[in-house]
Amino acid sequence: MLYQYTLKTQKEEFVSITAQVKGAIAESGVKDGICVVYSPHTTAGITINENADPDVQTDLLLAYAKAFPDRREFRHSEGNSAAHAKASAMGCSATLIIENGKPLLGIWQNIYFCEFDGPRVRKFYVKIMGE
Ligand code: ZN
Repeated sequence: MLYQYTLKTQKEEFVSITAQVKGAIAESGVKDGICVVYSPHTTAGITINENADPDVQTDLLLAYAKAFPDRREFRHSEGNSAAHAKASAMGCSATLIIENGKPLLGIWQNIYFCEFDGPRVRKFYVKIMGE
């Protein structure tokens, strides 16, 4: 089963998509399987990280900004190479284990869509395989 979602993002942010992913798994009826969450974008990523303290997401954005600053040497004419670098480092997908009809997430884990070059209208896919 393939599910597609859209979201509107701000300039840079982490958007929790955990509810959509859990909803897709529930709707699929799959009890035992694998779920892939995928972003089809080149300046956005997918990650799994802490949900309890929102400062963690703020700090991750800061860490990425420090690790991948905009550089005069960049040649890409669109002018958003730092966002491309952040997206590549983050990765564009996450794989989850489905057990007893639920994603095997730690208690502090959420799934995030990571915008590095908004605001934009984005989409992501959730592919569920199993029985
Ligand atoms: Zn670009």
